[in-house]
Amino acid sequence: RFKGILLDRDEAKVLSVTTAELSLDDLMDGDVVVEVEWTTVNYKDGLAITGRGPVVRRWPMVPGIDCAGTVVSSDNARFKPGDRVILNGFGVGETHTGAFAEYARLNGDWLIAMPEGIDGRAAMAIGTAGYTAMLSVMALERHGLTPDRGPLIVTGANGGVGTVAIALLAKLGYHVIASTGRPEEGDFLKGLGAAEVIHRDELTGPAKPLAKERWAGGVDCVGSHTLANVLAMTSYGGAVAACGLAQGMDLPTSVAPFILRGVSLLGIDSVMAPRALREEAWARLARDLDMDKLNALATEIGFDDIIDAATAILDGRVRGRVVVNMKA
Ligand code: NAP
Repeated sequence: RFKGILLDRDEAKVLSVTTAELSLDDLMDGDVVVEVEWTTVNYKDGLAITGRGPVVRRWPMVPGIDCAGTVVSSDNARFKPGDRVILNGFGVGETHTGAFAEYARLNGDWLIAMPEGIDGRAAMAIGTAGYTAMLSVMALERHGLTPDRGPLIVTGANGGVGTVAIALLAKLGYHVIASTGRPEEGDFLKGLGAAEVIHRDELTGPAKPLAKERWAGGVDCVGSHTLANVLAMTSYGGAVAACGLAQGMDLPTSVAPFILRGVSLLGIDSVMAPRALREEAWARLARDLDMDKLNALATEIGFDDIIDAATAILDGRVRGRVVVNMKA
């Protein structure tokens, strides 16, 4: 038997969160069993464990949307015991028993081989948040953005997606403007590569249809009024990658930025992204993410700290990324 976190609901839909002794019979079907060595706490894991968002859609559930570990058994032709693998998303921790247990039974088609140059700890310091930051950067590049087009803004700058996005964009030569509600972390953000730090209050109120052009685009982790303001301040022909909803799921904007400035809004989904795109993103992370900066933005915790970290991330108290050492 092995330990894991179990979420359940009673008839009144009251959520219970327990640390349980599990067996493989408690895990859902899959053709690969992975020993989980490293995992991480994402915003979505915070929603699942606190019940503040409708993330879990099957009960009981082992939460945890990301893991890195070693294959212990496999009926999948792509993997054999001993292979080192990464899992991000695909409904794991939502509709399929997930990563916050010492073992996970998964569909091998969801797994990718650990990329050259990345180990389990780094993979989970990156996690879904960092891989989403990479998907966002790749989308901006596909749109044709280059550093000579002007600055890029990153909203939710101190969060998991935001910190990795800053480090990636700075390494690629962009002038990065970091928007944060925690200006006291300005030196930390500049250490990651931000050229300027602005207070998020400049962007959280209702947006005008168009405002002074301030950036060529950006990575938005926040949604709602913030994304509306970011769009209104994006220069002609620019693009914004929308990946988050920390302020809200609404988008109170107008078509003005799109039809008067040719601005594009690029949607980013990490959960169901096809394998080829994932493998490209992970290969890019191995190449373009400075590992010293990744270490600077990651905080290591143990299995017993996961539940507290889930609350902290929703309260906006986590800086950067939380990486969980399952063997600690
Ligand atoms: P996180 O670490 O909690 O970061 C979110 C950041 O947003 C916070 O650190 C805070 O940054 C800012 N923020 C929080 N509440 C806010 C508010 N009310 N108004 C304005 N800003 C606020 O979360 P994350 O892991 O980076 O994820 C960020 C978002 O992306 C989440 O909504 C998550 O669900 C989403 N996401 C989406 C995908 C996808 O596939 N599309 C994948 C991963 C994550 P400051 O303290 O710097 O202001």
